[in-house]
Amino acid sequence: MNTLVKGWFSEISDELWPGQCFSLKVKEILHEEKSEFQDIKILDTETYGKALILDGVIQCTERDEFGYQELISMIPICSHPNPERVLIVGGGDGGVAREAIKHPAVKEVYQVEIDGRVVDLSKKYLPFMACGFDSPKVHLTIGDGFEFMKNHKEEFDVIITDSSDPIGPAVSLFQESYFELMKKALRPGGIICSQGSNFWIDLEHVKETLKACACHFKNTSYAMAMVPSYPCGSIGFVIGCLDEKRDLKTPLHCFTTDQIDKLNFKYYTSDVHKGAFALPRFAAKAFEF
Ligand code: SAM
Repeated sequence: MNTLVKGWFSEISDELWPGQCFSLKVKEILHEEKSEFQDIKILDTETYGKALILDGVIQCTERDEFGYQELISMIPICSHPNPERVLIVGGGDGGVAREAIKHPAVKEVYQVEIDGRVVDLSKKYLPFMACGFDSPKVHLTIGDGFEFMKNHKEEFDVIITDSSDPIGPAVSLFQESYFELMKKALRPGGIICSQGSNFWIDLEHVKETLKACACHFKNTSYAMAMVPSYPCGSIGFVIGCLDEKRDLKTPLHCFTTDQIDKLNFKYYTSDVHKGAFALPRFAAKAFEF
């Protein structure tokens, strides 16, 4: 399907969000290619700045990427008493790495991204996110996150899965077997946080992913962030913790307002952390199982 018509990019997907689409007015197509794994576009848009599009789906835009990157990183990291070793799966734009290294307890960040072209192109066109790869704390591997997880046991305190949507190379990252592998890859007390889709778009799919998580983590929860360029303007996170008693809603590490400003958090605060777990009644009810 031609998603670029008369200067507009339209995010059309009959599989993911039938009958609706979000459109952005394009100033310039900065890059287009088919990598080994997916179709990659980088656009300069009129009102959302630079945008990364994979297989026709918006991954992040310059205007609002921080909301997603800060919450998917800081909710699990600030919910861990000593988050020294962090693993990021996906996240080829570098935004999650950029956030994860802000936390003073984080000593090392390992990252496994399947598509090296996303990393190369983000470094060229999206340096405001790809700057995450500049830190000596970040160790990047190009490979499949699912396969990577099979070879790592009791190594990480926090695992963040910043994947694309559950089509193409990311399908395996929503399966129950992936949650089982992540559980084994965690050190005691560890925590995982995965891109968890949107309950307005597909409540059943979110429920299934939460159930897959709950099969392996007794302490499972769902949080959400407002991100206007994602379908329906929001996105959720599926969180699982090995420590059954830990209250995920209450951050163990709270940044002062000064620290928040110095670290350039534009969305995350301890209050936002707590509030992210407050769900509309219909969703909260659907997730009671
Ligand atoms: N924030 C975005 C969202 O929610 O749509 C995700 C952004 S990030 C660019 C997603 C990355 O996941 C992509 O670069 C993609 O190549 C990577 N990815 C997809 N499947 C993967 C897999 N099986 N292993 C590792 N990385 C994967």
